[in-house]
Amino acid sequence: MSTLITNIRLWDGLAERAMEGAALLIVDERVAWAGARGDAPEAASGAEVVDGDGGTLLPGLIDAHIHLGWGGASARAEETTLRNAAAALATGITAARDLGAPSHAVITAARAIARGEAPGPHLIAAGRPVAMPGGYAPGVAAEADSPEAVRAAVAAQVAAGAGIIKVIASPVPAGPEVRVPRSFGEASLAAAAGAAHAVGLRITAHAHSLDGARDAVAAGFDCIEHGYRLDAATIAEMARRGTWLVPTLVAMEAAQAPQMAPGRPPETAARARERWEAAVEAARQAHRAGVRIAAGTDAITNVPVTAIRREVALLIEAAGMSPVQALRAATSDAAVLLGIAQETGRIHAGLRADLLLLAGDPLDDPAALSEVRGVWRSGERR
Ligand SMILES: [Zn+2]
Repeated sequence: MSTLITNIRLWDGLAERAMEGAALLIVDERVAWAGARGDAPEAASGAEVVDGDGGTLLPGLIDAHIHLGWGGASARAEETTLRNAAAALATGITAARDLGAPSHAVITAARAIARGEAPGPHLIAAGRPVAMPGGYAPGVAAEADSPEAVRAAVAAQVAAGAGIIKVIASPVPAGPEVRVPRSFGEASLAAAAGAAHAVGLRITAHAHSLDGARDAVAAGFDCIEHGYRLDAATIAEMARRGTWLVPTLVAMEAAQAPQMAPGRPPETAARARERWEAAVEAARQAHRAGVRIAAGTDAITNVPVTAIRREVALLIEAAGMSPVQALRAATSDAAVLLGIAQETGRIHAGLRADLLLLAGDPLDDPAALSEVRGVWRSGERR
């Protein structure tokens, strides 16, 4: 089966500029050719033709921090996950890193999607996050109170089929009466990193506070999620080690928006505002220092799957990236973070045909991400 998408502007996920007057040939699940419209190969002659109508074709988006199984009651968790996955694909997300749910339903759903039984992005799922006792939303995490227990909790996720390990490095107290340290601690974090890396998996840390982020970076984690309180020394260490940052700015922006908590007392609102400003500053400093950044949203904890569009805009407006840098953060760079750059994240002959067709040009205006004309995942149009 082959498809020729013609009459398009083409952005490959890397270049400073899009190519005008382009076309692209899909054969089965891969891109067979992409180039100037007049140069289409012989093989294109029998293909089904899709007129792009002057729109922009780019790699499908990658959300590096998503929770498709969040909040689903266990009996219906897989159904909830698949519904969210279909919505993510419709938004243009063709791959995502799922960073935790109360069960392994996302791993099950990811397999169903990979077998072609349900529509959705390619998913790399963490299973349950690993946290210290009382250090996360009740009932979600696999809890561990020592390096040995941490290794066992990581092994349980690996056995369930996790493709990434997620650790709650700076705890989120499970309730107002719960007292937990500000960091999981270097010994437990090092045990987790060792256990993940030993089986060839990457490991990432939820870190709202500075302590958790600093300790996770020192323990050799591959990535920091949120990183709202990074200081200059931690940022410099991340740049030196090549540690990624997924700043999830859209989640923090939403948390300080008045409509998120109507009637919130002014001092609470002011604290939320201060946290948002700190998050913006941390992302801005990290970008300036050369820390590798990928786009992630924290959907669907308190933002919808469409939030990836706003995250790209915030990486530009708030973190100071150029439009092309922000779009790379949501495509080719995110693919490197997910370890799938040999398969997707760019438009190139031989790579998977994971594609997004927009009416406008997102390099010109990121708002163009909202006008989706078509989404292909592994060569199949949604
Ligand atoms: Zn999250």
